[in-house]
Amino acid sequence: MIYSIRVKLFAVFVVLLVLFQFIFLIANAYFLDDIFIWGNKRIITQIYYDFKDNYGKTFDEVEYLHNANNDFGGNIAVIDRNNKIGNSTYSRFASDRMGRMLINIRQPIENFTNQEDEDTLLIVSSSQDARFNNIIFIGKLPDNKLFIAEKPYGVVYESSRIAENFIIVSGIGTLIIGSIIVFFLSGRLAKPILRINNIAKEIAELNFDNKVKITSKDELGTLGKSINLISHTLSQALKELRDANAKLEEDIEKERKLERMRRKFVSNVSHELKTPLSMIQGYADGLKHNIAQNREESEYYCDVIIDESEKMNHLIKDLLDLSSYESGVFKIVKSHFDLVELIKESTGKFRTVLESKDVKLEIVTPEKCMIHADRLRIEQVLRNFMSNAEKYVDHQGKIIVSMECSNTHVHIQFYNTGEFINDADMNHIWSSFYRVESQKTGANMGTGLGLAIVKAIIEMHKGSCGVLNAEAGVSFWIELPKV
Ligand code: ADP
Repeated sequence: MIYSIRVKLFAVFVVLLVLFQFIFLIANAYFLDDIFIWGNKRIITQIYYDFKDNYGKTFDEVEYLHNANNDFGGNIAVIDRNNKIGNSTYSRFASDRMGRMLINIRQPIENFTNQEDEDTLLIVSSSQDARFNNIIFIGKLPDNKLFIAEKPYGVVYESSRIAENFIIVSGIGTLIIGSIIVFFLSGRLAKPILRINNIAKEIAELNFDNKVKITSKDELGTLGKSINLISHTLSQALKELRDANAKLEEDIEKERKLERMRRKFVSNVSHELKTPLSMIQGYADGLKHNIAQNREESEYYCDVIIDESEKMNHLIKDLLDLSSYESGVFKIVKSHFDLVELIKESTGKFRTVLESKDVKLEIVTPEKCMIHADRLRIEQVLRNFMSNAEKYVDHQGKIIVSMECSNTHVHIQFYNTGEFINDADMNHIWSSFYRVESQKTGANMGTGLGLAIVKAIIEMHKGSCGVLNAEAGVSFWIELPKV
């Protein structure tokens, strides 16, 4: 692009220059003569009338003619009707030439003198060789004499040749210097256009980082400003569009995730309810059809039905709790209470079961730790941890519940000996219905809701929770702000 503008400017310049040269040369060849003749005629006519005015009065004719000769640049003479030269500016040699010339133009002179109404006559002699041409001016004087001035015309021819050369040489000079100037000028002119073009291209590729630098207040400056405005508006609009799109994608992804969770939840719940329900149905059927052989057996049937109903009851209660916590509908009701006392109370309920399993329970707490929290929910958390510890502790194992109470936070740890939790399961056990089957027994005794409920309650209290495999067992922890 830069080159095309340069080439165009250069071409226009050269064409104009050549055109002017051509006009000069034509003018020089065709009109220089006329201009020369016209100019000289004007001068000599003036001289002639001055001379004529003074003629016959007392004035130094010769001195006047010599002065006039200086102005005119040719010879002047006064001749009588016999072509005899009187006062003149001629040297002796030159006057001979004048004599010869007068013979040549005798006829025109005669015609002229016979004409009453003409005062002056201009003769341009033309011979084969233009250098020997003359212009001859003849004017009538009162006493029948003639004022005659003559100038070699060849000077014009010489001048014309010189002018021609001068025009050509100066033309070439102008062309060279002009080309250099045009080259740099066109470069300067094309550069901002090129810059604007590059930035427009970048905009087309949706890259809005670069802006046009406005350096002039002309049309290019205005164009640059417009391009910058386009860039700004476009980038703004695109950004808004991208943001809106990202938000939309996020929303869609959230919606999808929620939908997946809902489906999984429904399938999990139905699965969880199916087993106890079919057992209840089976045993109730058995009772109805008197399949039980004796009273003991029918009592067993009833126990199974009661047991399964209880399980279902638990499950549904847990589910309702979890869904109300996770939906954000549930609001915790905080009160001040001693957490040490609550820990002792909640763990105390497990003593009998643990003793029956030969599990040692150790509680390590400070004397007192006041906290501002939802007592019932925190109790649920402690119960779930204890129930898990009781479920997963190995036979003759050990459970340690320890607690640290700082000015701002409470940290509680539930350690029990037993199987480790795989790294792969670590992050998932906090999700609802996620259960890990025992590596030894291949069985699982829970519903997979306990830790999900813990997590929801801890989050409602703006606390945190976690798990790590400790020496010979696992260690769950929670941290709660005290207020
Ligand atoms: P579950 O009803 O199965 O216990 P949870 O949500 O309470 O459901 O626990 C999820 C999973 O975390 C369990 O299936 C179990 O594999 C693992 N887990 C929880 N507590 C313990 C623990 N004290 N020791 C070992 N594994 C545990």
